[in-house]
Amino acid sequence: MTGKLTLIGCGPGAADLLTLRAMQRIKTADLILYDRLVDPEVLSFASADSTLEYVGKGCGDGGRQQVDINARISEALSQGLTVARLKSGDPMVFGRASEELAIAVSMNADIEIVPGVTSALAAASEWSIPITERAELQCFVVTTGKSSKDGKEPDWCSVVRPGVCAAFYMSVAQSWRIQTALMAKGVPGSLQCDWIENAGKPDVRHVSSRLDRLALDAREHAVKNPAILLIRYPLSAAIADTGQASELA
Ligand code: SAH
Repeated sequence: MTGKLTLIGCGPGAADLLTLRAMQRIKTADLILYDRLVDPEVLSFASADSTLEYVGKGCGDGGRQQVDINARISEALSQGLTVARLKSGDPMVFGRASEELAIAVSMNADIEIVPGVTSALAAASEWSIPITERAELQCFVVTTGKSSKDGKEPDWCSVVRPGVCAAFYMSVAQSWRIQTALMAKGVPGSLQCDWIENAGKPDVRHVSSRLDRLALDAREHAVKNPAILLIRYPLSAAIADTGQASELA
């Protein structure tokens, strides 16, 4: 009999932001595979009979690569185990969920996904930053600072548009590139930018900045991962920026 794979969103790293469903699935799993950013307290919900294995992929810490994780999931499913794959935030947001789900699908195993509080939403709540605002911010996008496999950076200019709040994951090391790419396309340097480090955790930190100081502030305040960058581009900011107005029309 093939087992079951449950991808569980564990929130931004605070056990009390876990859903009741996530807690229940953790309690009943045979094998728990957990990531680097999952709060250790979450692991205390596991039953005494379950096996806990760390499969984090932190930079240079000897963490296992995704291929090894995939192989471990496949092995456990073939043994008929209930596997709880604990991921930070929400499993479907920059969580490499598709690769792990594909294994379970190919083996005809049961699948379940338990959503979690993604870090961008936890970050916005921490500092009371609305990500949508009537008549000002009508879209919310998530993007990443990290290049994709082919080395190409995401097209940040296509998402940071008037009326949009953009949340950048994995972006601390890319702050200079983000700043210059957006400003080169005419995004106003005065736009409010917020770094939120360790959202949801006791050591949460907020660094307020603006687009034309983004990289400088990240360096001066030593912003560190895990952090989310929120850039809000209200419609009124585009209208106020007269140089922009004709381009946007
Ligand atoms: N699936 C996760 C994202 C994993 S990618 C989610 O939904 O949140 C890892 C990135 O998430 C980090 O580089 C950072 O940008 C962000 N992140 C994770 N935990 C965070 C936290 N507590 N505070 C701020 N950012 C966080």
